[in-house]
Amino acid sequence: LEPAYQFMLRVRAAGGVVTPEQWLMMDSVSQKYANGTIRLTTRQSFQLHGVIKWNLKKTIQEVNEAMLSTLAACGDVNRNVMCNPNPYQSEIHSEVYHWASKVSDHLDPQTKAYHEIWLDGEKVIDSNDQAEQEPIYGRVYLPRKFKIGLAVPPSNDVDVFSQDLGFIAIIEDGQLKGFNVTVGGGMGMSHGDVKTYPQVSKVIGFCLPEQIIDVAEKTVTIQRDYGDRSVRKHARFKYTIDDRGIDWFVQELTTRLGWSLQEAKPFHFEHNGDRYGWVKGSNNKWHFTLFIQNGRIKDEADYKLMTGLREIAKVHTGDFRLTPNQNLIIANVSSQKKKKIEGLIQQYGLTDGLHYSALRRNSMACVAFPTCGLAMAESERYLPTLLDKIEPMLEESGLQEEDIVIRMTGCPNGCARPMLAEIAFIGKAPGKYNMYLGGGFSGNRLNKLYKENIGEAEILESLQPIITHYSKDRQEGEHFGDFVIRAGYVQEVTDGQNFHA
Ligand code: SF4
Repeated sequence: LEPAYQFMLRVRAAGGVVTPEQWLMMDSVSQKYANGTIRLTTRQSFQLHGVIKWNLKKTIQEVNEAMLSTLAACGDVNRNVMCNPNPYQSEIHSEVYHWASKVSDHLDPQTKAYHEIWLDGEKVIDSNDQAEQEPIYGRVYLPRKFKIGLAVPPSNDVDVFSQDLGFIAIIEDGQLKGFNVTVGGGMGMSHGDVKTYPQVSKVIGFCLPEQIIDVAEKTVTIQRDYGDRSVRKHARFKYTIDDRGIDWFVQELTTRLGWSLQEAKPFHFEHNGDRYGWVKGSNNKWHFTLFIQNGRIKDEADYKLMTGLREIAKVHTGDFRLTPNQNLIIANVSSQKKKKIEGLIQQYGLTDGLHYSALRRNSMACVAFPTCGLAMAESERYLPTLLDKIEPMLEESGLQEEDIVIRMTGCPNGCARPMLAEIAFIGKAPGKYNMYLGGGFSGNRLNKLYKENIGEAEILESLQPIITHYSKDRQEGEHFGDFVIRAGYVQEVTDGQNFHA
């Protein structure tokens, strides 16, 4: 008898765009093979939890039949390419999404082993044959995972500065002119090891849309050739850049490209969160952004989210977009279909989330317990309860509609990008968290450790006076993260190398 080992499956879709048919497939496999829920992730992917080992192959086959894939959703390769879902400017979205998909396809591993093992089972490589050729990854792939995101200002929802490689769309007169290129971001660190730290990426120049694949490929090959393969904790691209310097990187990139990036163009980010409800896009189609608490799609006794979305998918003729904040956009709804979809949203009470505080609408937690093997503390299952206790403080101070970005993770790997939040909690042990303050509202600045290893009582005790102080002394338009620095609660972090200083 073999133990019923359970697995987590990550299903990726570049830019988080899926068709209603693909949504229905994910719904169906989650019921058949997983724990009956779907988890939307911070990289615009799906996670299925609780897939029993002997159901893995069937699940992966059904996912692939629907033209989605689990290939390169994990491992030391380029991961799901993120893209701003942009429900406002439809033409710009389709153009930027086109480039995100191109980059994603170009960096897909070429291995046939995936198909051999999971799909038709036919042996595609004979053991006597030469090893498979990976034109970009080579024989040993990358030293660590690699992350790419495309942002469209004024929204920085992809947290472009957290990506190994980022592209910031430059729009002039409603046209996509190209992208500013950013390199060297990354969230993960280890508690107690100051040689590991989160970092925000640096803008190094501008490229035309058609140059983006070349830039992505050459950047990946530089990390392939120079990334640290001896110390895994030091293997991410951010350390390659910090150790050798940004000038070295730009020089190396220029040499490999055979041409130079242009000077970076001005851009401005306003926020890294989602804006909820209906908007009409420039293509005259409607788009509805739905708040999904911590990305978990499931039915509860009084909130039939999964059923409601299934019913919507059955009639929807547009697409769904998974946002980088783990929310969902029902996108490209025609005027004729809008009434029907709005009726289903109401029927299943899916907009109850819109009555949450602004803090909750800007909250994000990683999965953590019970399905993430790296978790040190609760996250997804705990953050909603903690918010229940913080919300009355905000209400008392008249801040319930003040957008404040709050994030929690169960360990310092940082899957929910907590080091960029205005308030963050990173798990240390069951019930204990490090508390960080001072991230930039638009995802442009790292936060700083405020209190170490504290439980709920101390979290609330620590936050209460700061919230009161903020409500009384903030300047016009001043965000919470900026205020806590000005008021002296924490120092500003201008470079990840000073994160622990
Ligand atoms: Fe797991 Fe840590 Fe990622 Fe949370 S941050 S999902 S605990 S690895």
